[in-house]
Amino acid sequence: MPRQIVNASQLDLESPGRRDYWVALGHTSIWGSHLLPLTVIVGPQAKPGEGLSAFGACHGNEYEGPVALKHLLREIRTEDVLGRIVIVPVLNVASFRVGARESTGDDGFNLNRVFVEGAGTTPAMAGITHRIAAFVREAIWPHVHICIDLHSGGEVARFAHWSGFFRCGDPEIDARREQMARWFGCQIVTAGTSSSKPSGISGGMHNEADRLGKYAIGTELGWGQSVDVQGTRYARQGVLAAAIHHEQLAGTIEPIGHHAEGTQSLVETRAAITAPYWGHYEPLFDCGEYVEQGQTVGYLHDFGRLDEEPFALIAGDSGIVISQAWGARVEQGQTIHMIGAEIG
Ligand SMILES: [Zn+2]
Repeated sequence: MPRQIVNASQLDLESPGRRDYWVALGHTSIWGSHLLPLTVIVGPQAKPGEGLSAFGACHGNEYEGPVALKHLLREIRTEDVLGRIVIVPVLNVASFRVGARESTGDDGFNLNRVFVEGAGTTPAMAGITHRIAAFVREAIWPHVHICIDLHSGGEVARFAHWSGFFRCGDPEIDARREQMARWFGCQIVTAGTSSSKPSGISGGMHNEADRLGKYAIGTELGWGQSVDVQGTRYARQGVLAAAIHHEQLAGTIEPIGHHAEGTQSLVETRAAITAPYWGHYEPLFDCGEYVEQGQTVGYLHDFGRLDEEPFALIAGDSGIVISQAWGARVEQGQTIHMIGAEIG
């Protein structure tokens, strides 16, 4: 059956069976709509308010999530679905269309900063990006209790493949979130707190899903606007494992990657280093390598002061390099290096 074009109010996430939608969200420029792809499969044991949702391309230039979810649309058999599975391979269709992190061809916002009060419901926040956030909140999240938000580094950062969760303090919820994150198979599993982000950053999709009591997982599965081999594998595995372990999908699944090999590191993100000025970043270690506190881990060069010493980045903690700037050119104030201190 061809993919149906519907308004958000016409979505049916409750009736048994599979439906493939293009959800039409009004365009602010052309006479028409942005079409957001959404597939829902509802099985015989679906419970109200429970299900798994998985999203790719919250940022439109991160591709492992969209590719893995596009495959899963054809791989998941309707007869195997027990509960409810909602797959959105491309969430920010506006930014995906132009291959950018933000919706630069439209209102210019970063979808991962607009899950704020009034998004999509007040005139000042009525652009497509805010309305996508409102759509997720109003039309999808009330039907699911799991939210997987598949990110990669785009042009901002390179990563040791990671899947992560935020701790809420409830041991049972934290343990389930950790298990979901581990099953992706990535080298790094990050256990964050909501204060892990730079000050003033709010409106993130993952944080908002947490606040609403979901089992939320975020990932960083590649970088450089490419499709990473392992990252795509991890995305597929993480979504399937969560669906099976939360009894939304029948079947069994075996661990892969670092999860299978016992080489996964549970870490806390620490010792973020900020670029003190605009310059060119030279890493001295690859992501995934171990560094000692006090070690020089990179240099920031100022080519306008060619004969001066570069700024040396000193590791503020011992641990694994989990994130670094991707491009050589970095902005003043950009987080260009981050360590994950092992906690398990
Ligand atoms: Zn992202």
